[in-house]
Amino acid sequence: MGFDDSVLICDTVDPLLNKILDDNGLKVSYEPEITPEQILEKITNFNIVIVRSRTTITKEMIDKADNCKIIARVGVGLDNIDLEAAKAKNIRVINAVEGAMNAVAELVIGLMFTLARNVKVGDMGIRNNEWPKKEMLGTELKGKYLGIIGLGNIGKRLGRLARALNMNIIGFDVMPIDEEFAKEVGLMKADLDTLLQSADYVSIHVPLLDSTYHLIDAKKMSTMKKTARIINTSRGGVVDEDALYDAIKSGNLGGAALDVFEKEPAPGHKLSELKNVILTPHAGAQTKEAQSLAANVIAEKIVQILRGVI
Ligand code: NAD
Repeated sequence: MGFDDSVLICDTVDPLLNKILDDNGLKVSYEPEITPEQILEKITNFNIVIVRSRTTITKEMIDKADNCKIIARVGVGLDNIDLEAAKAKNIRVINAVEGAMNAVAELVIGLMFTLARNVKVGDMGIRNNEWPKKEMLGTELKGKYLGIIGLGNIGKRLGRLARALNMNIIGFDVMPIDEEFAKEVGLMKADLDTLLQSADYVSIHVPLLDSTYHLIDAKKMSTMKKTARIINTSRGGVVDEDALYDAIKSGNLGGAALDVFEKEPAPGHKLSELKNVILTPHAGAQTKEAQSLAANVIAEKIVQILRGVI
């Protein structure tokens, strides 16, 4: 059975999404460069609106979306959709939590290796006609303590990968941690302060909420080991970036890797001044596999909602 609903895709997404919806009879309008003004103009014509990260669906847009049944985010976080406005208008909002899990966890592992082995120093040196072998003297991940804050989908995947590298895993979550998972990776449960004091690497995997805004601030950083490194691939705002800059610059923290920033995009961010810092442009889910998995999940969810199955 086919559907005749109309779909507006506002951002660049994996072509698989377009294909599955098309195969099911939906009328897809693929407009990856559409502007907010154009969305306001035409949103009333669509039953389903799909975004990734570029587009923000505002209350003003939702107020005009009189025929909309579903707003979908081909990704995890829903911070670019006005959820209250959607709820008030009885519009279902869906996302694809499964898509990014492995991609983000693998990026964290890569960032930890890059920090541990001073890869950036070696690479920059050779580009500058130098041979900085001595400066690349680093450390190994084996046997180091990795503190994971937030043991949801991504935190758990990271725990499993890190365990395979023989790291020791310390975990903190506000919700009870899955016992079977804890056993599998030999996880030591701790409160946040103990985790921060003990870890060589701290990786953050919590949503951005009022309660997690600047969760890692100057005071918390001051309790960490001077050699410790912070990796944030969750959401900008969870780590206080000014405090992070001061802590690393003054030698009170070993380094950091950030994939997310309080204000994005963040070209030329002031942390780029520091050589023991790695910055990536919110690219945690930027793998072909994650994009096609997310596209698949969203397409299947839309079809199932239209069939009345979920
Ligand atoms: P999830 O919902 O599966 O897990 C989040 C966990 O954080 C939950 O277990 C929750 O109980 C815990 N938590 C909430 N508040 C906490 C607090 N104050 N202290 C400790 N734990 C707390 O989410 P996920 O899919 O694992 O995603 C984690 C984060 O990664 C989200 O912020 C998401 O937006 C972000 N993310 C980033 C990228 C990227 O491109 N960098 C891609 C996907 C997801």
